[in-house]
Amino acid sequence: MSLRQLHLLGSPVLRQRAHEVAGVDEGVRALIADLYETMRAAKGVGLASNQIGVARRVAVVSVENEGEFPLINPVIVERDGKQVGEEGCLSIPDIYADVERAERLVVETLDESGARKRIEAAGYLARAIQHEIDHLDGILFLDRIGPLKRRRLLADWKKSRRGADGHLKDVVPEGASRL
Ligand code: ZN
Repeated sequence: MSLRQLHLLGSPVLRQRAHEVAGVDEGVRALIADLYETMRAAKGVGLASNQIGVARRVAVVSVENEGEFPLINPVIVERDGKQVGEEGCLSIPDIYADVERAERLVVETLDESGARKRIEAAGYLARAIQHEIDHLDGILFLDRIGPLKRRRLLADWKKSRRGADGHLKDVVPEGASRL
């Protein structure tokens, strides 16, 4: 397992449609382990492979008391209802906006053993799944808000990145900042 650097807004891989994996092998399981480790250290509730520079359709989701699982070649097969709630993204630190999502969904995915699995989710867990699957399609939450709000947030983002170099961010290992 290793902690990976996060790719930030501006990194081309975030705009790429990630490729399906042919099967769940040791490489995919190692990728999942890295996603979990990096997500936990960055205190996220989900992380997609694109965000660590890998264009494969693999992501992880972890919502306290609701569910923690990898998504491997995930496909949303049912969705209904609407919810609006605040989202942020580890690839766009400190930027938040209300985003409309489906309230409930059913997603088909593979699990870590390569078996097919159906996951039903609602509320915040459903929101996290939709956010991560968007990443695998090269879509960011800022694409799902109104143009005026987006323009304002992008201006905030550019201001916050002034003087920053490149599109990569180191993640501090879990516990490392504690004395
Ligand atoms: Zn994100």
